[in-house]
Amino acid sequence: MKYLGIDPQKVRVGVFDFTGCEGCELQLANKEDSLLDFLSLLEVVNFREVSSDRGDDYDVALIEGNISRADEIDRLKDIRAKAKVLVAIGSCACFGGVNQQKNRFELDDVVKEVYGDHKVETDKVKRIADVVKVDLEIPGCPVSKEEVERIVVNVVLGAEIKIPKYPVCVECKQKVNTCVVDLGQICLGPVTRAGCDAVCPSGKVGCLGCRGPAEDANFESLKQILMDKGHSDSAIVERLRFYGAFNGTVG
Ligand code: SF4
Ligand code: SF4
Ligand code: SF4
Repeated sequence: MKYLGIDPQKVRVGVFDFTGCEGCELQLANKEDSLLDFLSLLEVVNFREVSSDRGDDYDVALIEGNISRADEIDRLKDIRAKAKVLVAIGSCACFGGVNQQKNRFELDDVVKEVYGDHKVETDKVKRIADVVKVDLEIPGCPVSKEEVERIVVNVVLGAEIKIPKYPVCVECKQKVNTCVVDLGQICLGPVTRAGCDAVCPSGKVGCLGCRGPAEDANFESLKQILMDKGHSDSAIVERLRFYGAFNGTVG
């Protein structure tokens, strides 16, 4: 049986980075405890952070980062043409991530101040899906290595791929955390898709929404609750804009 056009056998995988911090790739590389089991199912033919091999014969392309230069568009289209399945990994690839914040500002003066007369090419940030067809998106900043591993294995085996639709609050409550909203913080847990084990609120830091919207997220209710707690509309909107995951739901 094929799944997403691939025979369930040892699959060739390429990992590619575009504009981003490479933290998601580091998550994948940092897997000593389960790396051997993982690699027994697939063959990594291109992964700059871990190998000097540069194979072009991959079935699955994992794409990290977003697109902010013209040459990246050509490179991404070339990868798309070669890959049977293209997976965007991380908030940068899925939503634009932290980098998309620059789209809201005119940065000519900043670039001049930092780089002087040195020519810097940096266009408005695009998501991977703005440039090519994306088969799967695995959000997170960085991605959860367990989740990427589980999803890639499911692609290989032809098993169903599940990413939680319920909000971070569910995982947070399962951990019996004190709600940071009651401690005076803004937290996007009620509107953000779970799957990170509520790592930020568990560390007493409000969720910034790096995994994108949960199903049926009620932004208006969250805004009202946070404003009733004394937070300003601009502070809430700023939080929602942080990763670009809620663009379209906020002004
Ligand atoms: S999603 Fe986060 S960790 Fe991954 S490349 Fe972007 S900034 Fe880095
Ligand atoms: S801390 Fe955040 S994620 Fe946890 S219950 Fe409160 S609002 Fe939800
Ligand atoms: S708690 Fe929110 S910001 Fe933190 S990892 Fe989870 S989804 Fe991302």
